[in-house]
Amino acid sequence: MLRSVLIANRGEIAVRVIRTARTLGLRTIAVYSDADRDALHVKLADEAHYIGPASARASYLDVARIIEVARKARAECIHPGYGFLSERPELVEGSIAAGIVFVGPPPAAMRAMGSKSEAKALMAKAGVPVVPGYHGERQEPAFLKQKSYETGYPVLIKAVAGGGGKGMRKVDKQIDFENALAAAQREAESSFGDRRVLIEKAIENPRHIEIQIFADNHGNAVHLFERDCSAQRRHQKVLEEAPAPGMTAELREAMTKAAVTAAKTVGYQGAGTVEFIVDGAKGLRTDGYYFLEMNTRLQVEHPVTEMVTGLDLVEWQFRVAAGEKLPLEQEEIRLQGHAVEVRLYAEDPEKGFLPSTGKLHALQFPKGDGIRVDTGVAAGDEVTPFYDPMIAKLIAYAPTREEALGRLAHALDDTVIVGPRSNVAFLHALVMLPAVREGKIDTGLIAREASALGSEPRPTDFAAAARAVEKLVAREQSRMALRTRKRSNERHSPWDARDAFGFNAARETSYAVNINGTRTLARVRFDADGIHASVDGQKSINCAVVEAGEAVIAWHQGRQTKVLPEEAIAVDLEHLDTGGVVSAPMHGKVLSIEVKAGERVSKGQRLVVIEAMKMEHALTSPLDGAVSEVAVSAGDQVAERAKLLVIVADQSPADSVAKKS
Ligand code: ADP
Repeated sequence: MLRSVLIANRGEIAVRVIRTARTLGLRTIAVYSDADRDALHVKLADEAHYIGPASARASYLDVARIIEVARKARAECIHPGYGFLSERPELVEGSIAAGIVFVGPPPAAMRAMGSKSEAKALMAKAGVPVVPGYHGERQEPAFLKQKSYETGYPVLIKAVAGGGGKGMRKVDKQIDFENALAAAQREAESSFGDRRVLIEKAIENPRHIEIQIFADNHGNAVHLFERDCSAQRRHQKVLEEAPAPGMTAELREAMTKAAVTAAKTVGYQGAGTVEFIVDGAKGLRTDGYYFLEMNTRLQVEHPVTEMVTGLDLVEWQFRVAAGEKLPLEQEEIRLQGHAVEVRLYAEDPEKGFLPSTGKLHALQFPKGDGIRVDTGVAAGDEVTPFYDPMIAKLIAYAPTREEALGRLAHALDDTVIVGPRSNVAFLHALVMLPAVREGKIDTGLIAREASALGSEPRPTDFAAAARAVEKLVAREQSRMALRTRKRSNERHSPWDARDAFGFNAARETSYAVNINGTRTLARVRFDADGIHASVDGQKSINCAVVEAGEAVIAWHQGRQTKVLPEEAIAVDLEHLDTGGVVSAPMHGKVLSIEVKAGERVSKGQRLVVIEAMKMEHALTSPLDGAVSEVAVSAGDQVAERAKLLVIVADQSPADSVAKKS
């Protein structure tokens, strides 16, 4: 076995690789950018080396730098994880030249699969079904248009160097072809520096089913069954599972065979995934699957395969890299139970899935039977704009698909992510969706069900806001208590003892708060049981509340509601009796009187501030008028209902007319 590994990656996958490397006894060497000095993967590794600025281009994508660090740290091998440099032949060649083992395929195999069109041509030659279309060298618009016509609309224009759905356009009608081609080329150029495209028949009701394969340097190649990744948003995987719903023995046989053929054709070594598009329109049939591409690395969704096979794919990667034979023969690899994975992202489904950044004020993941969480962050960490905003992967395993989905739903219920926006509520809705439960997922499902999945602006969760208000009020009370204690400079001040205010006297106050950016009044009732808030007529609901600076954020059903105090003090609205007497709403101390006798006041103007119940309450005038009497002075203790001041209302002719009629 190898003795040390440099992990040329960050986040969740770096942590994942470190975990297995350690159990195999490898010394683990992490690399980090400026943005990752305190990252989890850095803390977990045996040693960590700085590789440059936050921008990935200047750090995690710098091949020369990575190899230099690997040499200096005397790393015996480099594990690239996925993304970043994982499919860059230059890293493989550079490693080999430096005498370092690359945990992955030989550069030639990587190159052969790196171009979608070359890979397709190779596969077609090897007898693996490919989607009808054109994947040759010619790129003139008129020629490509002619090929699209021959293929038959709808077609997909795809970047030859594509990945992550970039540079891909669907064309339904011939008339739209030129515009779509130009857009695909532009995107391909900016994403991959290669504007070449290919044409492919667009499959209706497409399902994405991929086969995990493994090969060693002794001529052995096996498959580890399929994963279904049909739940996609804009060609990006959202939920992955194994086995594929509705998979038949015949189709599995055909697809796994094709995948192993694909691997052997290019002289593959290590872990790889052969992706197929499957025509789901007529049910799963052996004449309806087509090779899409091969990913020459570990896949994000590899945990579902690990759960249903009970194998550690990273361990297999290290063994193959060390020159060992595959640990198992094909017949010894068994598929058991069902596993489903969802990707938790820092993004806002209610705002077009805009990536969201910021500090993770709270982060809590589920635990339990059959639940696995792969993450690269911890509470207090920052989600930065520099890298992929994935927070974690949540994987549920159970004997049946239904149970696995049930476990996943519960696991999502038990997940708390406070800080950046996240897709937890969206994922929960997805897992609950009848079509998902029935296993009727095609790649267009999520787009069609956008509103059922809550991926559009939703109303404020006032019940959760009310819970946050309660926390806010409790915090203000304890702050007041602290201040009072300091001021009175004695341990048993009557003003920090709860009984001094008689909690037996229930009362209600309104607070001005800011909920998700909007000023709102919250009603708060104090009684013997404590503090009870309501907002917009909705009572508070039991949910997690987290302090984030001055704000309190409620976490309820996978969504966050942020509440800020509008003013540090409360605004009391019910203190004026019919005679124009402003009276104390409760026992308390007059902190300040903000008007003088004879002064004109207008509605809403602040009159007196009273400290009571360990909070400051501003009493405001409910009408326009004049102060006729001030009955107290600052510093006075006042009893509940004690007269504070008197206001004489303005005489309004309109009023008297209205009253008469
Ligand atoms: P990328 O490498 O950019 O991710 P792929 O070729 O792997 O592109 O395709 C990504 C996704 O696009 C697939 O999972 C599928 O949802 C969709 N797709 C690709 N090819 C087709 C096709 N011929 N017909 C319908 N959908 C397709």
